[in-house]
Amino acid sequence: MTVMLEIADLHVAYGQVEAVRGVTLSLHSGQIVSVIGPNGAGKTTLLAAAMGLLPARGVLRLDGQDLHALDVQTRVERGLCLVPEQRELFGALSVLDNLQLGAYVRRLRPEALRRRLQSVYERFPRLAERRAQRADTLSGGERQMLALGRALMSAPRLLMLDEPSLGLAPLIVREILAIVRQLRADGVSILLVEQNARAALESSDHGYVLETGEIALAGPSRALAQDPRVQATYLGAS
Ligand code: ATP
Repeated sequence: MTVMLEIADLHVAYGQVEAVRGVTLSLHSGQIVSVIGPNGAGKTTLLAAAMGLLPARGVLRLDGQDLHALDVQTRVERGLCLVPEQRELFGALSVLDNLQLGAYVRRLRPEALRRRLQSVYERFPRLAERRAQRADTLSGGERQMLALGRALMSAPRLLMLDEPSLGLAPLIVREILAIVRQLRADGVSILLVEQNARAALESSDHGYVLETGEIALAGPSRALAQDPRVQATYLGAS
């Protein structure tokens, strides 16, 4: 397996305050890698820096290429895509319009756009049924599906998901994570940021624990889930 995303000694600051402090993390092609940790640990900041939404210092490479000099659009063209925590859908627009906006940066020909839309509808039949519905009338689970579907419209190779389980009922969380695993099977690599440590570790190959901007623990997800420190702090066991 080749290293797809390489992050080393990464620092990200808001003014004087460093939110990410020397993070080292790597993701191999075809993996689901999870980053778990409490509120305010720096998870969202890490993803924003990888996407190019925030300046960062340190090693940041995709497929061996330095990302620092590339703007967000170019990173999308290289196959990176971020699904933000707040989903950031256009509430007054239809499901279809939201999906089409996801492909906007890729400047697709109508035929390619149609094909991609078809594949998203096949993956999310519920979105197909609701294609004309306003996004702000969707349920929480449907909204997360729309956010994922919109991201897929940009044909990502590495999808970064910021708390896809946030605010969703356990059954819907399971459904969303099954879709994430299916995406991996279809060749999309996934960087999964979650406060729901149990769900994240169950669904990922490798995991990192981020605490106050630093990696506190890392390892294969199955081993991390057995780690007494992880169990006590993040899995609710004593
Ligand atoms: P959560 O799960 O609550 O979203 P997180 O792990 O994603 O947490 P971040 O949102 O990355 O954490 O925040 C990391 C730290 O950076 C926090 O201390 C936060 O208060 C701070 N921070 C985040 N955004 C800003 C900002 N725009 N300006 C200043 N500080 C910020």
